[in-house]
Amino acid sequence: MTTNKDLSLYFHIPFCVKKCEYCAFYSLPRAGEEIKALYFDAIKKQISFLPRERRIISVYFGGGTPPVLGVNRLCKLVESVVSGFRLSDNCEITVEVNPGTAGAEELKSLRAAGFNRISLGIQSADDAVLTRLGRIHDYAAAEKCVAYARAAGFDNLSADVMFALPGQTAEGFLISLEKIVSLGPDHISAYSLQLEEETPFYSKRDLLDFPDEDVEEAQYGSLCGYLKSNGYEHYEVSSFAKPGFKARHNSVYWDMGEYFGLGAAAHSFFNGKRFYSSPDVNAYIKKAQEGLFAPTNYEEAPVTGKDDMAEERLMLGLRTSAGATVPALKKDAAKRIARLGYGTFDGERLILNDKGFRVSNAIIATLI
Ligand code: SF4
Repeated sequence: MTTNKDLSLYFHIPFCVKKCEYCAFYSLPRAGEEIKALYFDAIKKQISFLPRERRIISVYFGGGTPPVLGVNRLCKLVESVVSGFRLSDNCEITVEVNPGTAGAEELKSLRAAGFNRISLGIQSADDAVLTRLGRIHDYAAAEKCVAYARAAGFDNLSADVMFALPGQTAEGFLISLEKIVSLGPDHISAYSLQLEEETPFYSKRDLLDFPDEDVEEAQYGSLCGYLKSNGYEHYEVSSFAKPGFKARHNSVYWDMGEYFGLGAAAHSFFNGKRFYSSPDVNAYIKKAQEGLFAPTNYEEAPVTGKDDMAEERLMLGLRTSAGATVPALKKDAAKRIARLGYGTFDGERLILNDKGFRVSNAIIATLI
C-alpha cells in the first residue's frame, strides 16, 4: 500500500545511439565517453542529496536509451539506490532498453545489480517500418533481446508498440502486434505517432504516407480488441497489462504519488511541489560540480494549489480505468459523455472506456 511517506525515483539518461526520425525527447545522439562519465558523476552526487527518510516504492531509469550511458554505470547507480535507501518489499525497478543496446551478458548484469523490470522499445515487428522510423534495430534483434532478458531473469517485461506510422496499413499493424504479443510481454505500452515540430519527420511530412483517420481508427480498434482477447487489461490510455503486471511506477504518476527526478530534464513532485531540471546536460553537470543539489534548489518552487491539484487529479484519473470524481458543476457534461458511449458515470465518478480513452484529451478539456 502506498502512503504519503512513500517516494519513487526517476533517473533520466538522455543519451541515444542515434536520433530517431520522429523523436522530440531530450536526448543526445553519439555523446562522447567524457560527457557520459561526467553525467554519471553528477547523478551520483545528486543521489547523495536525496532524502533518506522516505520508503522507495519504485525506481525507473528512462531516457534516452539508458544502456548508452554504459551498463556498468547503470549497475553502480542502481546498486547505490538498493543499498542506500529503504525499499518496499516489492519495489519495482525498471530499466528502459532498446534492442541492440544490451546483449545477453549486459542484461544479466542489469538483473543482478537490482533491476527487476525491463521496458523494451520494440515499436514494430515490421523491419521496413523500423527503418523508416530511424530505429537502430530490426525485429530479429528485438526477438533476441526478449530471449536474453528472460534468460537473465527478468520476469516482468514490457514492450513499447507504435501505431499511426507512415506506410503502416491496418493489416500490417495487426500482423506486427501479433508477432510482438507472441513474444509474451507482460505489459504493453502503445502510442500513436505524434508529429512533433523540429523532428526530421515534421520537415518531410508531405512526403510521408501517414495513415488516414479510418486506418488509424482500425489500428486502435485492433490494438484494444487483440490485446483484450489475449488477456491484457486496458488500464490506462496507453497501457495494457496481464494480471499482476500493471506498471507501479507509472501508477505513482497517475495516482499523484510523489517522485523525485534525477538528471537533466527530469521532473519531480516532492513535498507538494512540482519542479524540473532544465534539459541541458552541461548545465546539470556544472550544477553537480558546484555542489548545488541542496534542497534549497527547489524550496522556491511554489506548492501546487488545491485547485490545480483537483484539476490534475481529474486529468490523470480519466486516463486510467479507475476514472475520476467529477466536480458538481460538470456532472451534466459527464452524463452526456457516458450517454454518447465514451464510458460510465455513476453520478460521482466518470470511467472512460476504449472509445473514451481514444478521445480522452477532448473529454478532459470539456471537464476542466
Ligand atoms: S531511442 Fe527513444 S529517446 Fe532515443 S532518439 Fe529514439 S525515440 Fe528518441
